[in-house]
Amino acid sequence: MDCIFCKIVEGTIPSKKLFENEHVIAFHDIQPAAPVHALVIPKKHIASINDVGPEDWGLMGEVLRAAQQVAAETGIAETGYRLVNNCGSDGGQVVFHLHVHVLGGEKLGPLNG
Ligand code: C5P
Repeated sequence: MDCIFCKIVEGTIPSKKLFENEHVIAFHDIQPAAPVHALVIPKKHIASINDVGPEDWGLMGEVLRAAQQVAAETGIAETGYRLVNNCGSDGGQVVFHLHVHVLGGEKLGPLNG
């Protein structure tokens, strides 16, 4: 499977990890769009939110729980942050291994700005 995030999961491509458990990892985005910019991904290869199956919703809960923990541990929980999931080409998805962006550390602009 030629998936860059699967390679990060395997450790064949390095990443700056913030969180890891049996099912989920989180790491710093290599091109941060905010002072804190982390990515939370399931270790299982799921291409996008469109591909989440009925058996995967518990895993998606783990992804969100990890995002909450990353926000707390990077110090942005109190001031606030944004979780983003880009899905498909119109959504701006570039890496087709489902991920949630955790963005914060500054006042983020409005979505329609
Ligand atoms: O949601 P989208 O697919 O556009 O986001 C992919 C993200 O993955 C980008 O923010 C990019 O900087 C990040 N990335 C990364 N490490 C890589 C490849 C991409 O953090 N090795």
